[in-house]
Amino acid sequence: MGNAPKRILVTGGAGFLGSHLCDRLVDQGHDVICLDNFFTSQKSTVEHLLGRPNFELVRHDVTHPIWLEVDEIYNLACPAAPGHYQFNPIKTMKTSVLGAINMLGMAKRCRAKILQASTSEVYGDPEVHPQPESYVGHVNPIGPRACYDEGKRAAETLFFDYHRSNRVNIRVVRIFNTYGPRMHPYDGRVVSNFIRQALAGQDIAMFGDGTQTRSFCYVDDLVDGMIRMMNGPDDFTGPVNIGNPGEFTIRQLAELVIELTGSRSRITTRPPTPDDPSRRKPDIGLARARLGWEPRVPLREGLQRTIAWFRSLDLSRYRAPTPNY
Ligand code: NAD
Ligand code: UDP
Repeated sequence: MGNAPKRILVTGGAGFLGSHLCDRLVDQGHDVICLDNFFTSQKSTVEHLLGRPNFELVRHDVTHPIWLEVDEIYNLACPAAPGHYQFNPIKTMKTSVLGAINMLGMAKRCRAKILQASTSEVYGDPEVHPQPESYVGHVNPIGPRACYDEGKRAAETLFFDYHRSNRVNIRVVRIFNTYGPRMHPYDGRVVSNFIRQALAGQDIAMFGDGTQTRSFCYVDDLVDGMIRMMNGPDDFTGPVNIGNPGEFTIRQLAELVIELTGSRSRITTRPPTPDDPSRRKPDIGLARARLGWEPRVPLREGLQRTIAWFRSLDLSRYRAPTPNY
């Protein structure tokens, strides 16, 4: 098909990552359908695309079937922030599992290629560091994070079973913590919380002692990786890690946010959250070798861009998706 315009469905397309992906695909001239139920997002993230003739916005919940004709599907629909996915854990599991079944059914019928936005959470609290794709993980199946972790693991299972049983053309990317402009200010994830708190001069609330680590990827790098994976060879199904291997403690992140915002906020601690992974860092050897991909934006630079965006926000235009942020 070369560079011919394709009909591309992005589920969760109004969310943080989805809206950046829609931007890129619309700019490339594809016919983009953005599907979302707006649980953790709002129309404003894609309002700049509404007038574009190759962009369409559909309000729909992926737990219900939908009949569309498409060439490619990026399946991103799922709350991603712990506070929001734990708000209604049964719904979170349904979104991952029924959403995967409905989208895989569409891919099978349309002979469309389909990419799953999986997560580093499939590794749980890892005993192997950094995490390669071959590591099968260390997940508590009955803890408060399980609705998300196990939902995403079941979705991966469904992707590989549809691939083996029905020859569906799949791609699976395991996304590590990603941040950037258009994160919902009341998302509850660490980067958006720390920036919002620092800009408001409030205490920065660290869960636990701040020695736990994460590896933060800037959104533009992540979107590059996802698109490369979709356009990569059909025999490369993944799963493939997409993330930035730079590893930081949560305390280091808090200090960097304070420095870059010039804030007078103090760092305070709250009790640790249950099953919080103690460290996380992707092994990206496979993405480098098979996709020629690696991240380019260092944390300091990505945070500066994100802080600039947060400074421009009118917070009164945002509704908190759940009380957990
Ligand atoms: P987000 O919460 O901003 O976006 C998710 C989008 O899905 C939202 O627009 C939400 O309204 C929508 N959605 C939720 N349930 C839905 C449903 N039942 N039907 C239709 N739409 C629904 O989060 P994000 O960071 O943009 O994450 C996008 C995807 O990437 C998610 O699947 C997430 O699990 C995955 N991911 C993200 C990260 C990250 O660090 N950002 C890391 C790992 C995986
Ligand atoms: N965290 C924190 N303060 C916050 C939000 C998160 O200290 O306001 C910590 C959290 O305990 C975890 C890390 O930051 O160790 C990353 O949390 P996030 O919710 O962003 O994503 P996770 O990787 O845990 O899914």
